[in-house]
Amino acid sequence: MPKLLTKSKYLQGLQCSKLLWVSVNDKMRIPEPSVSTEAIFKAGNLIGVLATKVFKNGIDLSGLDFKENIKQTEDALKKRKPIFEAGFLEGRLFSRADILLPVAGGKWDIVEVKSSTEIKDINIHDLSFQRYTYEKAGLKIRKCILMHVNSAYVKSGNIAPEDFFVQADVTEMADEFGQGIKERINEMLKIIDASEPKYRIGTYCGDPYVCPLKFECWANVPRESVFEFYWMLGEKKFGLWDSGVCMMKDVGDDANLNYKQEIQQRLARGKEKVHIDKEKIGDWLKELKYPIYYLDFETINPVLPKFDGMKPYQRIPFQFSLHIQSKNGNLKHYSFLAEGVEDPRMEFMMELRRLLNKKGSIVVYNQGFEKGVMTEGATAFPEFREWYDGNIKGRVVDLLDVFREFWYYDSGQKGSCSIKAVLPVLSDLKYSDLEIGKGDLASLEYERVTYGDVGEEERLKVRAALEKYCELDTLAEVEIVCTLRNIISC
Ligand code: SF4
Repeated sequence: MPKLLTKSKYLQGLQCSKLLWVSVNDKMRIPEPSVSTEAIFKAGNLIGVLATKVFKNGIDLSGLDFKENIKQTEDALKKRKPIFEAGFLEGRLFSRADILLPVAGGKWDIVEVKSSTEIKDINIHDLSFQRYTYEKAGLKIRKCILMHVNSAYVKSGNIAPEDFFVQADVTEMADEFGQGIKERINEMLKIIDASEPKYRIGTYCGDPYVCPLKFECWANVPRESVFEFYWMLGEKKFGLWDSGVCMMKDVGDDANLNYKQEIQQRLARGKEKVHIDKEKIGDWLKELKYPIYYLDFETINPVLPKFDGMKPYQRIPFQFSLHIQSKNGNLKHYSFLAEGVEDPRMEFMMELRRLLNKKGSIVVYNQGFEKGVMTEGATAFPEFREWYDGNIKGRVVDLLDVFREFWYYDSGQKGSCSIKAVLPVLSDLKYSDLEIGKGDLASLEYERVTYGDVGEEERLKVRAALEKYCELDTLAEVEIVCTLRNIISC
């Protein structure tokens, strides 16, 4: 069997020649997908199955092996019915269509199903490759349709597949994206057959997806390189890198660094490791009113809405951690972790209202998230609107401001202001000590043990790990504020 160019390989080839070559010739070098990526694949499969329900009397060829799929596709085409996962091998090109629909004049529409709520360029490239392959195989294609999730869909009872999707006719876009496809395909086939191409890192390493070979190609990028510049555009970073200016310390005045990037450069050039604006930090700390409530939420946002009245990808808060600190330094911890499969939002909001009392600052890290979740809660359950608007919203203080504004910056943060980057430079607390150490894993684990078929022992173990993870988020906030107080009192 010659080396094939499939639609996924074609998309990889559009991103980078080396990625294409390795995925065909040396795929063991590509690491297994992360748990989060696996979850995205699973959600995509669920959506794919749901989409087939829109088309009645279809012939399902999914689950067949490569040869059998191609053979049965030939038979299915004659029946002029919707076909799910029809496979075509034409020369060295292979593609499977999510859905093929028979239309007038002996033609077919290609339907590509996506779990996103919008049309992306990569989806159109996908369709243009499919159309090219199917036409070469002798099919007459009328339209290219992208069937994506309808962001305005609101669940009411069982999910209605007809309303859950939008079918966008993207034929014209596929025409445009398909220009020059023959030459691109030939070029990619040559790359596959040649020896491993030389590579150069570029913006494409993270666009449209973070490349799985980044660990390999970026291994020699040194600490304090231009890639650590805070919020510098990718084009600008690569412009510097490609011109041989690799380190922050070597960037010249003509680079027009902003205030924050200048701080990073100054630290990279000098002996100091930390920049501290004591006045600004002091002003921020003065705003805090006791008792101080350190708060953090965890949410899931399933593509298939779980409860009536909800939309695809709408957030469901399932957990919070709260440390309450009184003026004399006493610290108490409270937490909420939803039990059972029912909608936890009402109980979540009630517990918040019970614990947040009427006075005192509410410290969060990245207020857009916590405020957004509470605003959504108050919209879904209007009985919380007055409480949230009148008492809570104005008490929220964002600890991220201290770091986002670079009132405190440690070169050990490596250009990031996330709490995961800030905590290690200000405290001995570590996420790496935990079984669940990341927010996306916490959400996935909660979903798994709450809605999946999981034994009681495993469920309790995961819930305990979730409690520890969320508690660390607010304990981290407490520690960071305490360290900041110590710094400015020095
Ligand atoms: S990390 Fe960048 S250079 Fe390396 S294979 Fe991926 S896209 Fe290509």
